[in-house]
Amino acid sequence: MKITLAHGSGGKATSELIHEIFANRFNNPVLAKMEDSAVVPGAETIAMTTDSFVVTPVFFPGGNIGRLSVCGTVNDLLMNGAEPKYLTCGFIIEEGADSEALACIADSMAETAREAGVSLVAGDTKVIDGKGGVYINTAGVGFVPRGRVVSASQCETGDVVLLSGYLGEHHAAILSSRMGIENQIQSDCAPLNEIVNALFRAGVRVKAMRDVTRGGLATVLNEFAQSSGCCIELEEDRLPVSQAVKGFCGILGLDPLYMGNEGKLVAVVEREDAEKALQAMRSAQYGANAAQIGSVISGQTGTVLVKTGIGGTRIVTELYGEGLPRIC
Ligand code: MG
Repeated sequence: MKITLAHGSGGKATSELIHEIFANRFNNPVLAKMEDSAVVPGAETIAMTTDSFVVTPVFFPGGNIGRLSVCGTVNDLLMNGAEPKYLTCGFIIEEGADSEALACIADSMAETAREAGVSLVAGDTKVIDGKGGVYINTAGVGFVPRGRVVSASQCETGDVVLLSGYLGEHHAAILSSRMGIENQIQSDCAPLNEIVNALFRAGVRVKAMRDVTRGGLATVLNEFAQSSGCCIELEEDRLPVSQAVKGFCGILGLDPLYMGNEGKLVAVVEREDAEKALQAMRSAQYGANAAQIGSVISGQTGTVLVKTGIGGTRIVTELYGEGLPRIC
């Protein structure tokens, strides 16, 4: 079935679209009430976030826009130490979109929400003129345990920088799809609950944490350096990049430091916690290739440096503008 403007009318066709494609897949007691807003049990301190997903193609190696929209929002909650609980999703569907593709996207969202332990408790659909595109906004709420503070402003000289796995995979998968390049690269799109939970369970004091998305590791670490007024030094030789992505970057002249992931996090922890943190990350799903990639040093505040393999040092600036196509 092709989606038509009638599916966005607010009448019977809209109701059929919502029930047949979304509600039965996202089913839970809160959503089933179909009220104007979801009423849910709360917590003392909550984290909230929202993100819009406009990636093309909507289906890519290793995932689709549905999985991405749940992972992106869940991961943003996790990065502040929150336990993700509830999501809302708004679909903007262009006329001509295929209902089977929508069902596939909704299946992925439901499956990823289960994996990440969140409920989709409210949603909206709009149908607009267009060429069959699908866009999703997800908002998320998470509960922050009492006393837990994770913030980019807390990095200090002596801390170490850990990365949960290979750089650049999501970005390389999207670019490969768009350019029609055949390779084995898959998006790393994944919810990071297990890694984060493992860190806290091990008693690691996580000072700052971010998922490495648009703008890449270079941009995240510049944000850390600026927010905490510190200097971060990376060791190029220690940056985990798969052979496939290394090869892909080499051919296209891309730098993995600026390429987005959708299932990797960078964490700053105290040096004495480094080994414990690495073990915790490696024991978790999606964290097998975690590595220590650098440290916070006394140097020019607000800067990120990389020590190259041949002993030189260069400054790593943040990504300026939108260098590459939409990846999320
Ligand atoms: Mg983020």
